[in-house]
Amino acid sequence: MKVDFFKHNIDRRDIAEVGRVLNSIFLTTGKTVAEFEEQFAAYVGARHAVGVTSCTAALHLSLLAHGIGPGDEVITTPMTFCATSNAILHAGATPVFVDAEPETGNMNAELIEKKINRKTRAVIPVHLYGQMCDMKKIRTLSDKYRLTVIEDAAHAIEAERDSVRPGELGDAACFSFYATKNITSGEGGAVATRSGKTADLIKMLRLHGIDKAAIDRYTKLYRHWDMPLLGWKYNMDNIQAALLRGQLQRIGKLWERRNRLWLLYEDAFSPVRRVKTLQTVPGARHARHLFTVLVNGRKRDAILQDLQKKGVGVAVNYRPVHLLEYYRKQFGYRRGDFPVAEDIGRRTISLPLYPRLKKAEAEYVIKSVIDTAGSF
Ligand SMILES: *Cc1c(COP(=O)(O)O)cnc(C)c1O
Repeated sequence: MKVDFFKHNIDRRDIAEVGRVLNSIFLTTGKTVAEFEEQFAAYVGARHAVGVTSCTAALHLSLLAHGIGPGDEVITTPMTFCATSNAILHAGATPVFVDAEPETGNMNAELIEKKINRKTRAVIPVHLYGQMCDMKKIRTLSDKYRLTVIEDAAHAIEAERDSVRPGELGDAACFSFYATKNITSGEGGAVATRSGKTADLIKMLRLHGIDKAAIDRYTKLYRHWDMPLLGWKYNMDNIQAALLRGQLQRIGKLWERRNRLWLLYEDAFSPVRRVKTLQTVPGARHARHLFTVLVNGRKRDAILQDLQKKGVGVAVNYRPVHLLEYYRKQFGYRRGDFPVAEDIGRRTISLPLYPRLKKAEAEYVIKSVIDTAGSF
């Protein structure tokens, strides 16, 4: 049997929506993007959403919109994709890491306060694998020190914790529609925020910093535009938005199917000593983005390769950012700096989890993982 690591969920209706855009005159940021933004804001419960080309762009612009740049420090976690801390570097600021919690892999909110100094301007919690960080604690602490909170919610569109959704306590929440995320346009992203001022600023920053978008010149009488700010070229286009609208309507159903598979995995691995799983905090709605197991760190790579030989698609999310070559060279990080993130990074394996994964395939994944983990 061959089980792919990921399959997207784009269907005939989504493709028809893209066809409608392609048959129209306007391909770039226009009405379809505005409709998606409205629909997305309503889904996450934010007042505003702004479509961009990636979550990396969303993080970058959220930092810039809050005036964060050279000389500033931003606290985040090393247990994430390098996009999180790279965005801090793109803004000209310096990432400062705090270690993860062993139970969930999320940023350990207890460790943040020790890293706050005069240069600290913001915190970027990452809602790892789809489970939110302790946002109430992070918000309270950030208010005490007047820090901006920007959520990396790339995994967490559907998540909720302590009755709080992404973007509700953060000043901005950043989402990804990259090829393997819960809904996708191949590449894409969005910022959700309660602040109209932040949304307006990000709308300008995503398009060179100019004050009128092409759609305004197309739908209204020609008016000269100006460029009050230096921005980037990060605007979502109508083709991406058309792909996303239907997936967003089906997002609850897609979550249900991943949740069923998740519970199947959890049940199957819970009695197996060599295969540990992370915990879901009671009362939280986990977005069920990545299902990971922890195995013996010295055997992990052998297990990974054996699973691939058995036809099971696997991935590693993540080897911690501080040990990547660039970060080691630039900042002098060493093994031992963030022991919990390093332990997860040595032991973790991500398993296939997507709505089109069949029960028989999930059962084959389970059997392969248990057999392989037992044989090394
Ligand atoms: C995928 C991902 C990103 C980056 O998303 P892009 O849309 O590819 O820029 C950022 N953070 C996390 C945690 C991710 O998984």
